[in-house]
Amino acid sequence: MTHNVPLPAHAWPTLEAGWVWLCGAGPGDPGLLTLHAVNALRQADVVIYDALVQEAILEWAPQAEHIFAGKRGGKPSAKQRDISLRLVDLAREGKKVLRLKGGDPFVFGRGGEEAQTLVQHGVPVRIIPGISAGIGGLAYAGIPVTHRDVNQSVTFVTGHDQSGNTPGSLDWVSISKGSQVLVIYMGMKHIAQISAKLIAAGRPMSEPVAVVTTATTRDQRVLETTLGTIVEDIAAAGMEPPAIICVGQSVLMRQVLDWQGQAAGEAPRNLDPLGRGRPAESA
Ligand code: SAH
Repeated sequence: MTHNVPLPAHAWPTLEAGWVWLCGAGPGDPGLLTLHAVNALRQADVVIYDALVQEAILEWAPQAEHIFAGKRGGKPSAKQRDISLRLVDLAREGKKVLRLKGGDPFVFGRGGEEAQTLVQHGVPVRIIPGISAGIGGLAYAGIPVTHRDVNQSVTFVTGHDQSGNTPGSLDWVSISKGSQVLVIYMGMKHIAQISAKLIAAGRPMSEPVAVVTTATTRDQRVLETTLGTIVEDIAAAGMEPPAIICVGQSVLMRQVLDWQGQAAGEAPRNLDPLGRGRPAESA
């Protein structure tokens, strides 16, 4: 991979000493970095990165010190407050600090909290959005997060609360009635409770569900299942986090839009999975 590709002409911002840029790294594939992320990686003195950031992405910052600040459900990890204060310290030492987080820094990544701590300590910040796994990861699996024939809204929901438990505070009845498609982050640990709550709230047992693990990386795996069978199917397939779980009819679109399978020579399973009986663009 070439790490010295010139960026197109543009007034690229300079990462100044004493600043922290809080940047999304996308879901995994380095090609899903933004140009602002590449610009930041090239200038940083230090990159503090999460467990979900692929090692290949750090190769874009060979000049920088790389500090792992992993946070993964259930595994020992640096405390959130310690990470935020470390960022403050590095900035005060006059470093050009790049805080690199998986996906988008403001989507279930505690980026908002980190940015808040930095601002509270008078450290100047820039936010660089990234492609969130719940959108880009599903796209790599051939699942459009919205489709005119399927949904007019989508709900992004976390399967964990701050203590790592199923969010008791979440109103699963409202969530299940609120939109046709649910995209669940961090849902693997509590998938039994989550699927049971959705069924109890009226979502059909037969509702299609996709589980996409390590999306957009070479290890990406996709399981197509239903709300009623998801628990045993995940176990049978031996699927492990990180996973995005998508609940809704949009999962059926993978039958026509599994572009990675098609690139590998598979034929589309069904050109009209929703049974509309018309070319998609004719209406
Ligand atoms: N800020 C991130 C989400 C952080 S929370 C984003 O915008 O994507 C961590 C959760 O994100 C994981 O538990 C998983 O649910 C999801 N996730 C992140 N990267 C993923 C990937 N490559 N494949 C599948 N799920 C992923």
